[in-house]
Order: sequence, then structure tokens, then C-alpha cells
Amino acid sequence: EFLNPNEPEFLQAVKEVIRSIIPVLVKNPIYLKQAVLDKLVEPERMILFMVPWVDDEGNTKVNRGFRVQYNSAIGPYKGGLRFHPSVNGSVLKFLGFQQVIKNALTSQPIGGGTGGSDFDPEGKSDAEILRFCQSFMAELSRHIGPYKDVPSGDIGVGTREIRYLFSEYKKIRGTYEASVLTVKAVGYGGSFGRKEATGYGIVYFVEEMLKNRRMSFNKKTVVVSGSGNVAIYAMEKAIELGAIVVACSDSSGYIYDPRGLKLDTITRLKEFENKKISDYVLAHPEAIFVEGSTGIWSIPCDIALPCATQNEINSVAASQLISNGVKAIGEGANMPSTIAAIDLFLENNVLIAPYKAANAGGVSVTALEMAKHSKSLVWKREEVDSKLQEIMKDIYQTCKETSEAYDCPGNLMVGANIAGFLKVADAMIARKVST
Ligand code: NDP
Repeated sequence: EFLNPNEPEFLQAVKEVIRSIIPVLVKNPIYLKQAVLDKLVEPERMILFMVPWVDDEGNTKVNRGFRVQYNSAIGPYKGGLRFHPSVNGSVLKFLGFQQVIKNALTSQPIGGGTGGSDFDPEGKSDAEILRFCQSFMAELSRHIGPYKDVPSGDIGVGTREIRYLFSEYKKIRGTYEASVLTVKAVGYGGSFGRKEATGYGIVYFVEEMLKNRRMSFNKKTVVVSGSGNVAIYAMEKAIELGAIVVACSDSSGYIYDPRGLKLDTITRLKEFENKKISDYVLAHPEAIFVEGSTGIWSIPCDIALPCATQNEINSVAASQLISNGVKAIGEGANMPSTIAAIDLFLENNVLIAPYKAANAGGVSVTALEMAKHSKSLVWKREEVDSKLQEIMKDIYQTCKETSEAYDCPGNLMVGANIAGFLKVADAMIARKVST
């Protein structure tokens, strides 16, 4: 805390990992001797740059752009770009740090990175987003490349932004390096199933976890926060497996219908029309809209899928979920639960699918997309989906077995942290180099 003042999100992410891996460090003094942990908590490189752009009225605006190239022990830096006013060094260091462990857990040859801007896409015209993306890429293009650093999407960066960023990169570099950015549309090098992969992957992981307690999604009441890329496809897969999704949210508030929400309306509003979730009740007056997104956790449910942002479940929300009988939490967002909330879930025997494992489906399909480019392959949607299911089952198994091997059976968060850490640590030691 002394070395990283004003970095609460980063400190929280590191603390969560360190308290899991203490038994590993005690058992293997070589990790301390070779300063593996000291290296892991420092990003290899943090790039900060100015992003000037012109709004529709002709005014020049300036935002901050970032790329955090966190750790490349296993492969090129790989991780999302986030455009949101809350983006700062602490948020990006937390995102980069967790990405390193997550990417190692997938067993794919990818290191960890992240980036973005404090640019707020809310209320911006299409032309403004385009001009911002062009200016952002004018600088970012110097730092990325298919074998160096491969950004993808995150909050505020979807297929539209990736299209603008990729077009600008191609123009600046004069080459068609399809795998320099992922989450592209299928027509220009994207992969079938990538858009759905994070959301579907969460549900596949949670289904495995439920199976272990002889439960499933079928007929379960589910509450999902957010209504963006991750939330929409988590809802789609949960509904397909028989769940009743009764509530979801956006930054303005949440909608609730105990009979089940209509996903096609949510998708139309949020994915295609860029509207607020409150408009749902115009099409479905039987549902209710409540202002403010945090109240969503007071709705009784069997399974909660936080898919919006970090720290959206605090101890108050966790207590409400527990007293309403929640059985499982599937973390779709990165670090959606505070440490106090996690402790409450564990004390009350609530299953937790930890985010580093549960939301690793997106980056896993991204790694498949990179491999596909290098071999000029095209995979069908069904092939990608069946690979994704296999990957999520493998990740679940790894977390479960690791938690058992370290005397914390069923604590998949400890399992995910230890398994991911071991892969990065062993890669650092095997290479006997500075990273
Ligand atoms: P999107 O931008 O597509 O969607 C984010 C959703 O969360 C929107 O509905 C947004 O509301 C809502 N939201 C954002 N901030 C807040 C807030 N402070 N309070 C309440 N609601 C909020 O992002 P993604 O779906 O891509 O990402 C969601 C989470 O999943 C993030 O934590 C991200 O890091 C994580 N993730 C994403 C992956 C991916 O493949 N995209 C991969 C792995 C993790 P509004 O529409 O009003 O802005």
C-alpha cells in the first residue's frame, strides 16, 4: 500500500491472489528467491499517451490513453481495451494483473495486458467515436502487433470500436495483420462465436460447478447485472439451459419481471439501438424499472451472475443475496465482488465461480482466433462452441483439482489463483530471464 498509494483496485486484486498463494510460496522457496512475486506485481511497461479528438461542434477534446503491457512470460501481451470515464492507472493495473493469471489458466500461449481510455462513449455520435478511435490508434499502433501485444474489447469497446481501430491500424501500418486486434466481425478476420464466448463460457463453467452439487440451471431463478456483451450472452445461454432470468441492469438502473425477461427486447435496445434499459418497460409494461443499479441484488434468486463491473457486489449486497437463499455466484465481470463479499459467500457455503476462470471463455476463443489466423483456417460456429465447452470444462477441472491439492476443496477461487500463478511462475523460472 505504501508503494502503490491511490491504487485501491490494484491492491485488492493483488491481495486476493496473495492470500490464495501463500501455501505455494511456503512450499516452494524458489519463487521467493527468484523474486517471482515481485516481478508479477510490477507491469513490465505502462504507456500513457494523449488522445486529442474533435467533437461534432468542432471543439478539440483531450483524453488519456493507456496500454499496460503487464507480463509476457508465457506469450505476447493479450487483453482488453476499456473506454469508460472511471479508467485510470489503478483500474488498468488491476485489469492487467488479473489478465496475466487468467490467460495462464487457459493454458494458451498468451501473456497479459490491458489498456483503454477515460473517454466516455455515452452520448457520443458515431462520427465522434470514429474520430476518437482514429486518434487513439495513431499512438497505440506503435506499441502493438500480432506477436507483441494483441488488444481486444472490454467495457465500451465492442465490434464497432474494434472495426474503427482495426481500419486505422491497417491504414497506418500498410499491412493486413488480421490478428493484431481480436473480437473483429466475422467478415474481416473475426471468429464465429467470439462475441458470445465470454457470456456462454460463464454459464458453461457455472453448470459444471452446479453439477458437482447435483444441481443445474434448469428452472433456476437467475439475476444478471449489466446488459452489455457479457451479460446478454450469459442470459442467452442460461435461458437455453432452462433458467428464468428475472432481472438485468445497466448504469441507469435495473428491470425486473418475476415471470422472466424477454431477451430479444434487451438485445434490440442494448446491442442495436444504444438505448437505456429503462426503455424495456415501454415494450413490456408488466415489468418494472428501478433507478440505480445496486438494488438488483435485493431480488431473490438461486444464481447471481454479476456481469457489469468491478466491486458491484459489496458485503451489503452479498448479505441480501445470502438471506434470499442464493446458491451460486458466477462472476462474469472482472473482480465483481469485494473481498468482504467473497468471505461472506464462502462462510455461507455459497458456490463461487471466480472471474479469472469463469470469464476466461472470451480470451480462450481469442487465442483460437490468433491460431486460426496463423494457419489461415476458418472454423464454424459449432466447432468454436464445442471447443469453448471443452476449454471451460478443463478450466473448471483445473480449479477443482488445484483447490483439493492445496487443502481448500471446493474453493475454486483459490484453485484458479494457484493454478494460474504456478503457470506464470514456472514459465519465469524455466526461462531464467528477467521476466
Ligand atoms: P459492455 O460495455 O458491453 O457492457 C457493460 C455493461 O455494464 C453495460 O450494461 C453497462 O451499462 C454496465 N455498467 C458499466 N459500468 C457500470 C457501473 N459502474 N454500474 C452499473 N452498470 C455498469 O462491457 P462487457 O460486457 O464487455 O464487460 C462487462 C464486464 O465483463 C467487465 O468487467 C469486463 O472487464 C468483463 N469482461 C469482458 C470480456 C469481454 O469479452 N467483453 C471478457 C472478460 C471479462 P451502460 O450500458 O449503461 O453503460
